[in-house]
Amino acid sequence: MSPESRNQKPSKYVYLFGGGRADGTEKMKNLLGGKGANLAEMAGHPALRLPVPAGFTITTEVCVHYFNKKGRFPAGLEPQVLRGLAHIERIMSHRFGDPENPLLVSVRSGARRSMPGMMETVLNVGLNEKTAQGLIKATGNPRFVYDAYRRLIQMYSDVVMEKAEGIEPAEGMGVRQQLERELAKMKQARGVKQDTELAAVDLKALIGIYKAKVREVLGQDFPEDPLEQLWGGIRAVFQSWNGKRAVSYRRIEGIPDEWGTAVSVQAMVFGNMGNDSGTGVAFTRNPATGEDVFYGEWLPNAQGEDVVAGIRTPYPINEAGKSEHTAGLPSLESQFPAIYRELDTIQKRLEKHYRDMLDLEFTIEKGKLWMLQCRVGKRNGPAAVRMAVEMVREKLIGPEEAVLRISPAQLDELLHPIIDPLKEKDAIALVKGLPAGPGGAVGQVVLTAKDAVEWTQAGKQVILVREETNPEDVEGMRAAQGILTARGGMTSHAALVARGWGKCCIVGAGEIHVEVPMRRLTVKGTVVKEGDWITLNGTKGSVYLGSLPLIKAAGENPNFVAFMGLCDRVKKLGVRTNADTPQDSQKARDFGAEGIGLFRFEHMFYGEGSDRPLFLLRRMIASKTEAERRRALEELFPYMKEDVKKTMKVMDGLPVTFRYLDPPLHEFVPTRPEERQRLAADLGISTEEFNKRADSLHESNPMMGHRGVRLGISYPEMTEVQTQAILEAAAELIQEGFDARPELMIPVTAEVAEIEDQRKIIEKVYAQVLAKFKLPKGKPELVIGTMIEIPRACITADKFGAACAFFSFGTNDLTQMGYGFSRDDIGSFLPRYLEKNILPADPFQTIDQEGIGELVRMGITKGRAANPKLKIGICGEHGGDPDSVRFCHRVGMTYVSCSPYRVPLAKLAAAQEAAADMAVKAASARPAVKAAAAKAASARKAPVRKPPAKKKAAKKAPSKAPVKKK
Ligand code: PEP
Ligand code: MG
Repeated sequence: MSPESRNQKPSKYVYLFGGGRADGTEKMKNLLGGKGANLAEMAGHPALRLPVPAGFTITTEVCVHYFNKKGRFPAGLEPQVLRGLAHIERIMSHRFGDPENPLLVSVRSGARRSMPGMMETVLNVGLNEKTAQGLIKATGNPRFVYDAYRRLIQMYSDVVMEKAEGIEPAEGMGVRQQLERELAKMKQARGVKQDTELAAVDLKALIGIYKAKVREVLGQDFPEDPLEQLWGGIRAVFQSWNGKRAVSYRRIEGIPDEWGTAVSVQAMVFGNMGNDSGTGVAFTRNPATGEDVFYGEWLPNAQGEDVVAGIRTPYPINEAGKSEHTAGLPSLESQFPAIYRELDTIQKRLEKHYRDMLDLEFTIEKGKLWMLQCRVGKRNGPAAVRMAVEMVREKLIGPEEAVLRISPAQLDELLHPIIDPLKEKDAIALVKGLPAGPGGAVGQVVLTAKDAVEWTQAGKQVILVREETNPEDVEGMRAAQGILTARGGMTSHAALVARGWGKCCIVGAGEIHVEVPMRRLTVKGTVVKEGDWITLNGTKGSVYLGSLPLIKAAGENPNFVAFMGLCDRVKKLGVRTNADTPQDSQKARDFGAEGIGLFRFEHMFYGEGSDRPLFLLRRMIASKTEAERRRALEELFPYMKEDVKKTMKVMDGLPVTFRYLDPPLHEFVPTRPEERQRLAADLGISTEEFNKRADSLHESNPMMGHRGVRLGISYPEMTEVQTQAILEAAAELIQEGFDARPELMIPVTAEVAEIEDQRKIIEKVYAQVLAKFKLPKGKPELVIGTMIEIPRACITADKFGAACAFFSFGTNDLTQMGYGFSRDDIGSFLPRYLEKNILPADPFQTIDQEGIGELVRMGITKGRAANPKLKIGICGEHGGDPDSVRFCHRVGMTYVSCSPYRVPLAKLAAAQEAAADMAVKAASARPAVKAAAAKAASARKAPVRKPPAKKKAAKKAPSKAPVKKK
């Protein structure tokens, strides 16, 4: 709405602050911008009333009007600005343009959301030949005044006279650069290196030179009239909202163009007025560690930019903040104890008021402290978690607010070592792929799993680079620091396994060509040889040449544990894990998993110690008769039982969901001739006969072939032996005094009759085990459920609900079958789908709430209608994706299940969704807040498909064909 269109009362365009009062508050960021709103709060809130240099803020609405009306200001603005100026003059006891006692002001931008460095600022506005003399008289410091004056000319000519006028000079010919060359010439003439070494006379001469240069370059004089300077500054700041930098930043950050910027005009105070002056930047807590100590830097006799620009090494603000490097430098605490005490009191009050860690800017002018800015401070993951936990303990915030303050990425920082962000900032990525396993990894390139194992045994650190991975690579994947593949999607084998281990992994980096025989890989013409060092950022999917330093994140530190406790207090959704080994189960338990939601039996046939079980499985697969199969299964039985027992022991007292074998069998058929020979001999058949049997297992479409429950229907003895292994292991544990809680899950069901068929087998074994171990019914309890992975099962979920104790949505397969996208081949077309915005995200990573989500919803509704006690979970990869976890909360699932390293992230997402629910409920008593909370909640719903991109830009473009599912 244009401010002019409201014609009753004159619109308020200017909000004053200073002198212990303010028109605005911190809540008015939309109108006053972040900076203006916080200045108002500091200056005027009754609990604060801090020493803020007086000023006024012109609203964002004026900016919007300015652009709508082609550069005209609203009619009522001018008198309000003049009143604002008079307000500053009254409080600061200086007059704008007064040749005796002049007031100088700064003109700064301030959007609703911080856009650091993206817009313009003009400082020292109000200086001219006459006021400069007045200021010299007032300060007795001509050098300071001439320096401020020449800075004004430099800044003003650049920002107001050139940029805001849309002048685009040739490279290196901008007025600012030309003036800088004049400054350099002057320094050379005087034989000095630093600006600070120029004397007052030099700077005075430079002002004359600058003015002539401005006239020569821009064809106009630098304006001497302070008011003209002020209006020029205001206009230039508005113009900078549409400057190139600001526009690009808004595109990246998704900040709407129509927000506009506010402009704050504020009395200048100077930290460079001598040795009783100074300036600094501080944080109410340490932003790197989260420690509750006042932390900051300052410099005597300096201006703000001297502290942040890195030209001079700043000093620590207090003794507590001194490090090895700064031990000998003077702290503000020791130099100006009274000012330090005042600042310390202010920071404590501010933190209490805002209930968060703040970033502060201050200036000391001739012994007087002024607060120039405050905003919520940026922090890294470990610091954010520590602060949230400690602020809850201090009763500064509640647990709901604490969980809402941590982003998934910040929590993730605690779980994996990461590349030192300071070093990564300057590194250029060689290639990008899908970020499949988070964290950082550094190592020498190896191209085979065997080398990965051998090099690691020889004490080297390796990254395994493969075109794609298969089960035979598992040992190499385990040994490597990180995994990089040219093909595969987010649910590819490599991604799944790596995530399970918390290993850094990038898949689908399609520009990589792995040339194993030549012992090298090529990327767009760059050759990387075996043994060369590379670094992976598995959180972003970036690959770098060379070795970048990693920093160890805190892992299971006490703050992390306490934070997880807060999440537990707030969340409603259970969080289990997908784990198939005692080690992974223990890891997940340490991370707070509340049970196992998916134990995939077939994973016991990969990796360490799997030789014999794999051999037996292969023998079973190649068996022709039930007798052959039983013989193999009987031999497999002790391995199964042992595996199951170890895991249930680790999960003592918690449920463990065992899924019956679900591999497309042909994938386990050996390819190596010697292995085939060995198996043939063992079965007492010829190699030809073995090959024939193996070939007969070939399926055109194995994902829809002989897998899941279909195996149990064809070969009931398979179900029998697995059930016996699980229940006997549980019985033994119970007899040993453990609390074993197995749950039996039947996968890939489409017809409820499949459940009925399997139930008969399971119940028979259950009765046998109870009898054998002399255990009463219910010890262990018989819990039978199904995975819901096929749309038909969702549609007939009422029938399944009546037949099952639980459902677990296998959303990997459900997405595959619901969308008709092969989970293993999506990589070949997904990049185009994302580029063209046909899909908002990879549906195998983030659940498609509109379609697959509807199937899930239907499954839950129908299932619960038939069986209100039905437990419902999810065990597809989506169970660890924060957006999908939120969805699971909203549709009323009992739990999500995800790989161990994603347990904390799932807990966080579940807690945040519950906290948001509570906020909506609490706000329902207060209608205004209710609307805002409801809006916030709806903003978290399904990922929105963006309007078609005009240009190509797609943020995420995974590439190439995937790895076959194992
Ligand atoms: C699923 O389909 O979601 C699932 C968990 O099973 P898998 O990935 O083993 O097919
Ligand atoms: Mg599945």
